[in-house]
Amino acid sequence: MIIPKSGKLNPEQLAEVERIAGEFDCSILEIVGRNRCIYAILGDEGRELMFNRLRGLDYLARVDLIDSPYKSMDRKSALAEHQMKVGKTSVGAGGPFFIGGHCTVDPEEPNLYLETASALKEIGVHALRGGVWKPRTNPYSYQGISKALEIVLEAKALTGLPVDVEVMDLEQLEIAVEAGVDVLQIGTRNALNYSLLKAVGKMTAGSSTAVLLKRGRHMAPPNEFIAAAEYVVAAGNPNVMLCPRGTMPALDGYRNQPDESITPLLKDKTWAPVVVDPSHSVGRDEYVTACSMAAVAYGADGLCIEAHINPSKGIGDDPKQAVTPAAFAEIMAACRDIWPRRYQPDPLV
Ligand code: PEP
Ligand code: MN
Repeated sequence: MIIPKSGKLNPEQLAEVERIAGEFDCSILEIVGRNRCIYAILGDEGRELMFNRLRGLDYLARVDLIDSPYKSMDRKSALAEHQMKVGKTSVGAGGPFFIGGHCTVDPEEPNLYLETASALKEIGVHALRGGVWKPRTNPYSYQGISKALEIVLEAKALTGLPVDVEVMDLEQLEIAVEAGVDVLQIGTRNALNYSLLKAVGKMTAGSSTAVLLKRGRHMAPPNEFIAAAEYVVAAGNPNVMLCPRGTMPALDGYRNQPDESITPLLKDKTWAPVVVDPSHSVGRDEYVTACSMAAVAYGADGLCIEAHINPSKGIGDDPKQAVTPAAFAEIMAACRDIWPRRYQPDPLV
């Protein structure tokens, strides 16, 4: 990991660094952070001679060996200074970050989504979610349609809020990026789709687009989740949020196995904001408040909650797990109350 003295290496300096790394079969990846660029050394970076040569360059502030399977995501990485923003809000700075909106945008009922969006804006939600293309277990269920993206964009224009949309393949990724979607959601089913993760990182490198990476339903050790995020960051986009959303159900009664308690483990290992999705975790609106409060107590930086102006009129998951804007406002107040007492890792010495 290379940190230049100035915010960015100039082309001659970058060429020199690349030449030295190349002599040792390594390559350099420029990662554009909000405040500065850092340069990851890709390849076997445990070569002392290469390190000594790089350390001798007077325009470099630091050359660190990060001995971790996820060098960019590691809390010891220079990216730990990276403060990511979604729209105008710095995620996890000063209070929980809230994303809310429909599981699935009904293309036949655009007004329902627009009403939900306005009501969520009113209560102070920071970003809107809206399912356009849906990963449905049953191939005969509604699969989503590109037309729904227009409704999400209308809500963005109406409220001025950034929008979060799940993409499942390259075609959807291109459409979403082109349309200016602010947060690309990678769902639980694609959390281990490394080609998609690389494509997301590459296509949004150097931009302010954020990525909400859900935890895979079958993921066990935290490292597997962190390594998936590393794919996006190593491909050039450090604006990644980790989203626990429940794993394979082990308790009868919850939709998935609630996993907000993984948050402190993630916070201890990485610098990335953790934004918990309580809706898919517990799967019932009446449990969403408790799960949200627990997530914040465990140290989450934010929450992504399914919400609907009239859940019974929703499609997808909304009738069973979406909360109303009024309930959402109460969740926000309860979480803000807990925020000062949340788990926070000790600073690194
Ligand atoms: C969703 O957010 O509506 C969704 C399908 O999420 P997940 O990938 O967590 O199932
Ligand atoms: Mn859903």
